[in-house]
Amino acid sequence: DRLQGTILSKRCERKGCALLLMDLDNFKEINDTLGHHNGDILLQEIGLRLLNLFQNTDTVARMGGDEFAVLLDEVDMENAVSAAGRILQAIEPPFVIEGLTLQVDASIGIAFCPEHGEDTDLLIQRAEVAMYMAKKFVDGYRIFDPEHDPYNTRRLVIISDLRRAIDNNQLSLYYQPKIDLKTGDVTGVEALARWQHPAYGFIPPDQFIPLAEQSGLIKPLTLWVLNEALRECRARSDEGIKIGVAVNISARNLQDVQLPAQIAELLDSWKVSPDLLELEITESTIMLNPEVSMDTLKHLNAMGIRLSVDDFGTGHSSLAYLKRLPINEIKIDKSFIKDICKDSNDTLIVQATIDLGHNLGLTVVAEGVENQDVYDRLAGLGCDIVQGYFISPPIPAAEFKKWFKARVTVY
Ligand code: C2E
Ligand code: CA
Ligand code: CA
Repeated sequence: DRLQGTILSKRCERKGCALLLMDLDNFKEINDTLGHHNGDILLQEIGLRLLNLFQNTDTVARMGGDEFAVLLDEVDMENAVSAAGRILQAIEPPFVIEGLTLQVDASIGIAFCPEHGEDTDLLIQRAEVAMYMAKKFVDGYRIFDPEHDPYNTRRLVIISDLRRAIDNNQLSLYYQPKIDLKTGDVTGVEALARWQHPAYGFIPPDQFIPLAEQSGLIKPLTLWVLNEALRECRARSDEGIKIGVAVNISARNLQDVQLPAQIAELLDSWKVSPDLLELEITESTIMLNPEVSMDTLKHLNAMGIRLSVDDFGTGHSSLAYLKRLPINEIKIDKSFIKDICKDSNDTLIVQATIDLGHNLGLTVVAEGVENQDVYDRLAGLGCDIVQGYFISPPIPAAEFKKWFKARVTVY
């Protein structure tokens, strides 16, 4: 909170601040040999020494474990470095705990705002990087140096590898079924992107999709996903499994005027009827640029493609706006579904959302259904479609076909 507040006020004043993160070098040994109780006393003593060093305008905090932070208001590099020196000096005199004399060493990482980051997470992360460098080179303190930022390099490597992965077909799609709650029929599947990186192993979409969005790769990625999903839809159809496929669409895609034409071309080349394709667009994506979204959505809707509002309930859309959107479906976000049997507020929200959806003539889907109780409760509330681990996790195409055939024989 303090860090965020300081960053914001400095932004207005066009001034900076510095974050110093300090980690003790041998605290675990002290804890292990003298016990946690004495470890706690030592942490308290260190806290007091730090507090004595700084003024009221600065913040001294314990971040957790043996990590302390000092937030310095209005400093330049020289001041910050001298502060780090004073901290190291202050903890130099031995601590006396239960008659034992203890020597404590520490490493300090320094990051400046705005130079190294203008949001709290980034600033903390960068101070941490600097702190690990200080530890590694046993030199007391270090100022953040982008050269040493592993996150940065990994990020760049991942982006360039992702580009290659898209071009060379190294991504794959998993499919998760959607089930009609009344009939038990499989109404369709959601295609979810997967990436097995040759060096880093499995990278979850929650990590690489944001990178794709930031780096402009989301357009080729989405086209790859659409092509693969429609190819597989065609293949299923040829085997007599005529169900739709849902593809997730990002904000940048929605702002891309070429998207509708590109989709039309893909539908045509795989000979898939447009009503078998559904696009899932998160509520927050639509709200990011409502005007542009509306145009593209109208266009896609006119083509006969189904549209679904994903993560519904998390995006602050207004009812008046929702009513005007040419959508077919809302997917209630899994965070509301998870505790529906335990949390009465969640039950109320879900009930109200289902009624709202139905009043607007929309199909209502619940995602993140993980057990029988939740499934039954949703059936009782009149939900139309469910999706979740309870029915099936996302699985590869071949596995899905087996799953589908086995299920059809049972029902
Ligand atoms: P999403 O669209 O909300 O997808 C649902 C996520 O919930 C999937 O995670 C799925 O594996 C997970 N899930 C399914 N059933 C359950 C359940 O019962 N419990 C819980 N806790 N989770 C369940 P996944 O596959 O890791 O995807 C994460 C997100 O990444 C997706 O969220 C979507 O926003 C994004 N994403 C995935 N593939 C693509 C893609 O091809 N394009 C775009 N733009 N985004 C994608
Ligand atoms: Ca989705
Ligand atoms: Ca979702």
